[in-house]
Amino acid sequence: MDSSVHSHALTAALAAARRGLPVFPLSRAKQPAVRSPHHADWPRVPCRGECGRIGHGVYDATTDTDAIHTLFAAAPWATGYGIACGRPPHHLIGLDLDVKSGADAPRVFESLLVARGIVLPPTVVILTPGGGRHIWLTGHSEHTVPNSVGRLAPGVDIRGAGGYLAGPGSRTLHGTYRLAPRSARAPAPAPRALLRLLTPPPPEPPPPPPPPDAGHPPAAERRPDALIRFVAASHPGERNARLFWAACRAYETGHGGEVAEALIRAAMATGLPQREATATVASAARHMPR
Ligand SMILES: [Zn+2]
Repeated sequence: MDSSVHSHALTAALAAARRGLPVFPLSRAKQPAVRSPHHADWPRVPCRGECGRIGHGVYDATTDTDAIHTLFAAAPWATGYGIACGRPPHHLIGLDLDVKSGADAPRVFESLLVARGIVLPPTVVILTPGGGRHIWLTGHSEHTVPNSVGRLAPGVDIRGAGGYLAGPGSRTLHGTYRLAPRSARAPAPAPRALLRLLTPPPPEPPPPPPPPDAGHPPAAERRPDALIRFVAASHPGERNARLFWAACRAYETGHGGEVAEALIRAAMATGLPQREATATVASAARHMPR
């Protein structure tokens, strides 16, 4: 291994870190270069560095000069460096525009921006050895941008939280990553409209609570004793549904374990067979957080 390649990667990594970008060493194959301390513990232990040792890939990434020297010293075969995306202060987002396998992602991306009326500010552009490019943008803490493949358009991969980008100056098996000729020096904030496209929609809102006239006690009366009375007042044909509803509310409010038996007894008093009542409460328990 040519030691000047290693020291060139280290120098470039330190320069990126001084600009607030967390870095870690990469091998020629663009893989994390520091060996995992857990390689013997197969299948892999789910450690992201909690053990205090190095060798956790993107989770090793740091802006601390001494720590970067330690990482590179542990991987003398490193020829490049990765930049962790999604981390403060920049919350870096990488748009990976591929030109391999017939894709013309740069053009597809360009027309997507035009169609949406999104104007990209001047920002960092990296030329990849494969002829594609990486566009760097900054995000912010309220929007976690996940990694995705082809979410925006075919051939456009997004590097977000938990992902990384090869930094400029990185040498790989296929060539060197370089700053594009007219690249900005620092990444610019991602336009809001683009951030929305990169962020998954919020989870579906929970279904609205049943209206009071649906025969359920109002929110204020969802205490355990009210739930038991609610079940005890069931008529045939609604016993199971009312028991299930009451058990769900009990488990939701953290009282499931303590009132389950009382709910079952109340349902049995209305004529519901024990086996059926037990199964209904067990089913509510499975559906609800404990
Ligand atoms: Zn570990």
